[in-house]
Amino acid sequence: MGKLIRALPKGFNFRTFAVECRDVVEPARVLQDLSPVATAALGRALAGVALLSADLKFGKVLLQIKGDGPIGEILAEGDHEGRLRGTVHNPHVFLEPENKKLPVGKAVGKNGFISVVKDLGLKEIYQSSAELISGEIAEDLAYYLTVSEQIPSVVALGVLVDRDGSVLQAGGYMIQKLPQAKEEEIVFVEERLKATPPTTELLSKGLSPEGILSFIFGEVEVLEEREVVFRCTCSLERVKNALIALGKKELEEMVAKGEPVEATCHFCRATYKLSIDDLKELLGTISEG
Ligand SMILES: [Zn+2]
Repeated sequence: MGKLIRALPKGFNFRTFAVECRDVVEPARVLQDLSPVATAALGRALAGVALLSADLKFGKVLLQIKGDGPIGEILAEGDHEGRLRGTVHNPHVFLEPENKKLPVGKAVGKNGFISVVKDLGLKEIYQSSAELISGEIAEDLAYYLTVSEQIPSVVALGVLVDRDGSVLQAGGYMIQKLPQAKEEEIVFVEERLKATPPTTELLSKGLSPEGILSFIFGEVEVLEEREVVFRCTCSLERVKNALIALGKKELEEMVAKGEPVEATCHFCRATYKLSIDDLKELLGTISEG
């Protein structure tokens, strides 16, 4: 089980968030048979969307990253109850490590965008995006927050993958400057961040999300703590709704073909099968409507 916190550093006008999510990234890797670089990329996106979801009272947030690299589109979603899921277009993308690091930036590429959709329920949906600046995800997310949402932010995300491909560590933190932050606070935080090792190193030392923020700021007050888990929201009902959304004509063609429909969820690889009779039943609901 992973952990997500929202905390207030004592004496600072900053908002801070941190997450540890190895137990979210590892099942995603296993379910989707992710390559090491795909594991690192999706893991960073999952940690990133977890941080974005920390503020949610209700609803969900979707992070979409699409560059010109071989991994293709990355999707990660998180809701107000700490349920996370994510997927990448090309799970088997293979790139050699560079300086012992998995080249996430190369896998994601540039010439693309990072987009965030916040669905707060009650038809309140906010969508905003920014161009990719590095494909490394953390920098892109910080740039997005600073430019598109106009919240000056620092984001660090990290995933450590073992030799056998399994996830050893995953997590990250996000620091946001409040308008009333004083110059000396900003200088102090900048200096602290320069002296802060990579997230995976902090996690490997056994630091908790709170421990990471304390490492940077000293004492922090945890305002909210939430468990994060990998949990898919797909269901047979949703598959049926998607088929209905295709429209009457498409469904009639499927029935005429006489082949049952098999749909596999990209996130959790669950398979849903619908017989011809099921399709006919769906057609019935359309005619009635
Ligand atoms: Zn699913």
